[in-house]
Amino acid sequence: MQVPFVDLKAQYHSIKKNIDDAIQSVIEESAFIGGKYVKEFEQQFASLYGVKHVISCANGTDSLYILMKVLGIGTGDEVITVANSWISSSETISQTGARPVFVDIHPEYYSMDETQLESKITPNTKAVIVVHLQGQMCAIDAIQSICQQKGIYLIEDCAQSHFSEYKNNRAGLFGIAGSFSFYPGKNLGAYGDAGCIITNDDQLAEKCRMLANHGALKKHHHLIEGINSRLDGLQAAILTSKLPYIIEWTEKRICNAGLYSKYLAGIDQIVLPAVRPNAKHSYHLYVIRAQQRDALMEFLKSRGIECTIHYPTALPNLPAYKYLGYTKADFPVATAYQEQILSLPMYPELSEDSIKYIAGSINEFYSAKKK
Ligand SMILES: *Cc1c(COP(=O)(O)O)cnc(C)c1O
Repeated sequence: MQVPFVDLKAQYHSIKKNIDDAIQSVIEESAFIGGKYVKEFEQQFASLYGVKHVISCANGTDSLYILMKVLGIGTGDEVITVANSWISSSETISQTGARPVFVDIHPEYYSMDETQLESKITPNTKAVIVVHLQGQMCAIDAIQSICQQKGIYLIEDCAQSHFSEYKNNRAGLFGIAGSFSFYPGKNLGAYGDAGCIITNDDQLAEKCRMLANHGALKKHHHLIEGINSRLDGLQAAILTSKLPYIIEWTEKRICNAGLYSKYLAGIDQIVLPAVRPNAKHSYHLYVIRAQQRDALMEFLKSRGIECTIHYPTALPNLPAYKYLGYTKADFPVATAYQEQILSLPMYPELSEDSIKYIAGSINEFYSAKKK
């Protein structure tokens, strides 16, 4: 059996006509940049997600950068984020001229360890970027109240947490704004790069829109210098075609996670993902911690099962951040876990048979080791 890590083709074929028609319309109307399809996606995503403003942009990295720039973050400032994430979460901090400051991860939930946040706040701290990594909500209530107390902005990187919830509130609605990526493999994925910012703040929304479009809200009326970070019409139309299915796809991910937990139960050498109380995990990734991780991964590969690691090197341990002068001892959990974490195949169309096969193969790997 062959089990890919994600299967974007399966999803395309399940809604092929909608997608093909959407692409055709954009081309027929030459609505390539801005215009009707982009507006339509922004409105529909806003209404489905339950937020006042959706500001589309080119990708889920620009959305973080735009937010920080608009909030006035720059040289001399510090922005706190989490030690295990995709580099966009910290790279964009540096892009503004500010300094990234990392907090180690929670040993059970893998997102920012909220108990260590306060000790990282200095008079220069302007914002905290939390990441709901893997689709798992971080300790958003505790972090929200620390940010409120200290008067610093809370930004949520929701690139992996479309429709995740904490106490029935969706990811991205706890701080000043949320940042989304619609990279093809994300829970809501375009067929190229795409992203957006969500916020209920009118002024912030207008400023983001302006910055993303050369500093102009009206053509040729540049109030500031901005950047070119636009969602194109094709991606917008593709995303709109997917919106009617996203809730169902999220439920299927949750269902698949349940099947994994059922079939993987009782294997002592692995730790299954825990879900934070009162939270809804949207399972962008299904991540286990495994003994002999690399050997297990090789074994699964030989069985046609494709796994990956998110992420093989915690951010502060990357060569890119050597200049910050951290040592591995500063982030003991993230550093230890980078050798243990393993992302198993996860997508809505993943079949129960595939999950059984994966679980059986993992079982087989460890049984063989015992003999
Ligand atoms: C994917 C991702 C991003 C960046 O999104 P792009 O659209 O690829 O720029 C940012 N943060 C996290 C946590 C991500 O997973």
